[in-house]
Amino acid sequence: MSAGPRAAPKFPLRLDQVKPAARAEATPLLRPQRPLQQAAVEQRGRAATPAGLGLDSHHVRERMLARLQAEGVRDARVLAAMRAVPRHAFVDTALANQAYEDTSLPIGLGQTISKPSVVARMVELMLAAQPVGARPSLLEIGSGCGYQAAVLAQLARQVISIERLRPLYDKARSNLAALHVTNLRLVYGDGRIGHAPNAPYDGIIAAAGGEDIPAPWLDQLAPGGRLVAPMLDARSGGQVLVVIDRHADGSLQRSLHEAVRFVPLKSGID
Ligand code: SAH
Repeated sequence: MSAGPRAAPKFPLRLDQVKPAARAEATPLLRPQRPLQQAAVEQRGRAATPAGLGLDSHHVRERMLARLQAEGVRDARVLAAMRAVPRHAFVDTALANQAYEDTSLPIGLGQTISKPSVVARMVELMLAAQPVGARPSLLEIGSGCGYQAAVLAQLARQVISIERLRPLYDKARSNLAALHVTNLRLVYGDGRIGHAPNAPYDGIIAAAGGEDIPAPWLDQLAPGGRLVAPMLDARSGGQVLVVIDRHADGSLQRSLHEAVRFVPLKSGID
C-alpha cells in the first residue's frame, strides 16, 4: 500500500485509530450509499430507542407501573395506557435514562414533562366519570412534548391537545408521528379558549395552572363529563387539583383535591 496522502485506508478500520487528517477521507468509505428513506427510518428508530434503554425499556417501564400501583393507581385502563406509551421517546436522549423515574423533566422553553404519577392520578380522576368500555372524546390543554396526549389517545375515541408554544407543538408532532397515533389532533393555539369545533368533550385535562378555570372549558364539557385541572388556591397561595363534573341536568359540581405544582397557564400564543 502506497504511503501517499490519498492512499485508501486498510480494513478493518477503527475510527478511533484514524488520525484526524485521514478521518475526513475515511468517513465516506465507511458510509455505504443507502436510499434516503431507509436511512431516515433507521434514524427515527434510534431516536425512539436510545442507547442503554433499548431492550431494557420494557423492564424499567414495568417498574414504573409497579410503583404507580403501589402508590394507589387502580384503574386498569390507566395502567394499560401508561404501559403502552414509551415515555423515553418523549424526552431528550440525554435524559432518556431518567424517563421512567417519577420525576418531571425539562422539555425546553422552561416547560416540563409531567411526572408519571401525576399523569396517572389526573387521568384516573378524569376517567372515573366514564363507564368502563366507553371511548370518550377528550381535550388536553398543554401538549408539551406530547406524552400525556399519547396516554390519553390510548383511552379515547378522539383527543384534541392544544399547545401555545410553537416549538413544543412541533416537538409533540414529531414525537407522536413516530408512534403512529391516529386518533389525536394537535392544535397550535391558546388553550384558554378550548377547541369549540370538536366540543363537547367527555373529559378535559389541563397540564398548566391558572388563577381560574376558563369559562370556555366549562362550556365545552359534555353532560356526564369531568374536568381535571391545576388551579391557584387563593387560601394557600399554591396550586391544587380542581375537579368539575357536569351532571346530566347540566349543573356543575366542583371539588378541590391535593396540592400540585404545574407550569403557569398563559394567555395567547408564542
Ligand atoms: N402534557 C405535558 C405537560 C406539558 S407542560 C406532558 O405530557 O408532560 C404544560 C404545557 O402547557 C407547556 O408546554 C405550556 O407551554 C403549555 N401551556 C401553558 N399555557 C397554555 C395555554 N394557554 N394554551 C396551551 N398550552 C399552554
